[in-house]
Amino acid sequence: MSALPFLVGDSWVVGSGEPIRSVNPADATLNYEVSTADASQVDAAVRAAVKAQANPCWRRMKPHERARLLYRVAELIAARAEELAGRQMRENGKLRAECRGQAASAAATFRYYAAVCESASSELTAPRGSYYSMTVYEPVGVAAALTPWNSPLTMEAQKVAPALAAGNAVVLKPSEVTPTLGLELGRLCLEAGVPPGIVNVVAGRGQPTGLALLWHPQVRMFAFTGGTATGRVVARVAAERLVPTLLELGGKSPQIVFADADLDKAVAGVIDGIFSSTGQSCVAGSRLFVEASLYDRFLERLVEGTRKLKVGLPDAEGSQVGPLASFAHRDRVESYIEAARKERGEVLVGGRRPDSQELKKGAFYLPTVIVGLSNRARVCQEEIFGPVLCVLPFKDEDELVAQANDTVYGLACGIWTADYRKAWRVARAIEAGTIWINTYKQLSISTPFGGFKESGLGREKGVGGMRAYQLAKSLYWQVDA
Ligand code: NAD
Repeated sequence: MSALPFLVGDSWVVGSGEPIRSVNPADATLNYEVSTADASQVDAAVRAAVKAQANPCWRRMKPHERARLLYRVAELIAARAEELAGRQMRENGKLRAECRGQAASAAATFRYYAAVCESASSELTAPRGSYYSMTVYEPVGVAAALTPWNSPLTMEAQKVAPALAAGNAVVLKPSEVTPTLGLELGRLCLEAGVPPGIVNVVAGRGQPTGLALLWHPQVRMFAFTGGTATGRVVARVAAERLVPTLLELGGKSPQIVFADADLDKAVAGVIDGIFSSTGQSCVAGSRLFVEASLYDRFLERLVEGTRKLKVGLPDAEGSQVGPLASFAHRDRVESYIEAARKERGEVLVGGRRPDSQELKKGAFYLPTVIVGLSNRARVCQEEIFGPVLCVLPFKDEDELVAQANDTVYGLACGIWTADYRKAWRVARAIEAGTIWINTYKQLSISTPFGGFKESGLGREKGVGGMRAYQLAKSLYWQVDA
């Protein structure tokens, strides 16, 4: 099998780096090999981007024409949704149904940024003298986009669409675990008529490919989604190079259930909040705080619901929990369960691989609920990124807020209560970028998304999601002479 090429300008290039093996985590079969970019090929991609972005036909393209291109990309994604969904399913093991939803969401992201681009305006400021001042927005130039493996379909659209809407060129480096969704996005952009060089996709590992991209002197911005440790590497390069940086990082989000909550909805919301996507979601609700008076009853329902979840092949009818995205990642998740047991955590359900012969070949792990630990335990503090939920009781609201905030992360939080005043108080006190009240994991491209504390810097999505790829420029016009 020859290794797949990547995209530089309008050329499909076979890279000189060590190829990546893409393995289906549901059954350990080889999907394909993908060739990777060395530093000189990263340089070629950035040069292609610089050249294409400097072309006035792109830089000064009228907003409605740029929007038309983005709508065309959306149409092509929608037309190829089934194929893209199947591809993501084979690369990271996500359920086919979820992959379909994410392909639709990627198309919607391009449509949204087409509309944002076409309707964005410059701003006139109230004068404070005999002048008028206005602010216009210029593209940053070439943006480097680095993405993780858990949701390439949505994450890559979330970076490429606003970057193009803002008039930039992009060099995308997808995760080495899911290397080809980005390549397909690059192909569709070309097919839609986006000028060659505006979207380049270099396959490769974080090192050397990702790092070479970050250090390239002609890259003017970083848009990164991934783990907090890697985020720090990106931020260090950004500090040295002084380039604007968006960081969407890890989480350890609390779900909070008060005694007055609708029990059925809260149980379902907590189970879905942690076990959907096999827990491999940055916003997974992985720490559960339940009011002491409801604790035993809630736990019983939670364990019963968790045990009933159908762990299965990603494209099998009725599967609710698929495999982890890789075998190495399952090893990591297992090591956390060992750590929890060492700290005297009690595993109420899960805590092992499934018995089924059919699933033995894949990187499966059972949804796991752990009790008996303090919020300071390692599994309550570190992001596991797997199907593991730690449950803790709480007695009063102040103590609850202190514990929920006692984490380096601040990505999301769920609050389940019938009392809107309590919901408001707690929502305002929690340090997190997204708070869900009587719901969880609702996401919308029109609503800003990002983290507090070590969960990130800056915000993606919404109108500001396009502005993040632009530089404000203020013009002063003297009017009395
Ligand atoms: P990761 O940090 O290992 O990798 C992310 C990307 O960075 C990949 O493309 C990788 O190749 C690259 N990379 C790794 N090391 C690098 C280096 N030294 N220099 C340059 N690039 C490097 O993350 P992952 O394991 O792919 O994804 C899981 C993580 O992503 C979790 O922590 C999860 O919470 C986070 N995530 C966050 C969000 C969000 O929006 N906040 C969304 C999805 C995932």
